[in-house]
Amino acid sequence: MTLKGKTAIITGSTSGIGLGIAKELARQGVDVVINSFSNTAEDHGIAKEIADNFGVTATYIQADMSKGDQCRALIEQAGGCDILVNNAGIQHVAPIDEFPVEKWDAIIAINMNSAFHTTAAALPHMRKRRWGRVVNIASAHGLTASPFKSAYVTAKHGVVGMTKVVALETAKEDITANAICPGYVHTPLVDAQIPDTAKKYGMTEEEAIEKVILERQPSKAFATVEQIGGTTVFLCSDAAAQITGTTISVDGGWTAL
Ligand code: NAD
Repeated sequence: MTLKGKTAIITGSTSGIGLGIAKELARQGVDVVINSFSNTAEDHGIAKEIADNFGVTATYIQADMSKGDQCRALIEQAGGCDILVNNAGIQHVAPIDEFPVEKWDAIIAINMNSAFHTTAAALPHMRKRRWGRVVNIASAHGLTASPFKSAYVTAKHGVVGMTKVVALETAKEDITANAICPGYVHTPLVDAQIPDTAKKYGMTEEEAIEKVILERQPSKAFATVEQIGGTTVFLCSDAAAQITGTTISVDGGWTAL
């Protein structure tokens, strides 16, 4: 079966991993819906560039993934989808007793609750089409923990749990739900952590990358957005039709430690 002509909605896809996934799906002929909350000319330009480069339909829809009603509206405005990639996510690092409440609430809303709302809205459309793929971008932090990332680790573990429930509720249909658990991928989200990490440990940024950020990634190399995109394409393929309710780590050996 070809993925050509299927439609995918990728949340938070104007940058980083989401954009990488959108491009790899478009490369397979999938029509893509690009999303962020900012609604700039650049956001619309990203969709146009994908349409031009891959010969697919690519549209931009603004929706704030911290708001449940906007998550659901994104799915309805797109007319549903065959492939739902829950990718939007943010990070904040602080000890739990100093963790700002508004950061906790935002991380839980964007990184976890949004997947509940989009999945709930998308499943009826997938059932009508008798085919669907839900791909949740969790994290190595959906399987393990690090200090100072309480909200992120909580949200990502929650997403892994939600993935299993969705898989069980759709097990007898041609719908699967899985989570990809990347280790460190070089994206703006990680870039933003490098200067602070270097400052905190009194290191150069290069040393901070190898000794601190990639400390737990045995390969000592970042995963790429193309690799996460390729893993998403695999999960949408016929070969993965019986893979459901599980996680795939793309983490250079992190979770083998
Ligand atoms: P990024 O900052 O490059 O991209 C995040 C995307 O989410 C952007 O398109 C942004 O516009 C969007 N976004 C943020 N808040 C939003 C909101 N309220 N509504 C709609 N869109 C919103 O980040 P990334 O590194 O590409 O991360 C993408 C996902 O991958 C996240 O869920 C992240 O937790 C996960 N992840 C990243 C890494 C990594 O090393 N980069 C590792 C594991 C998991």
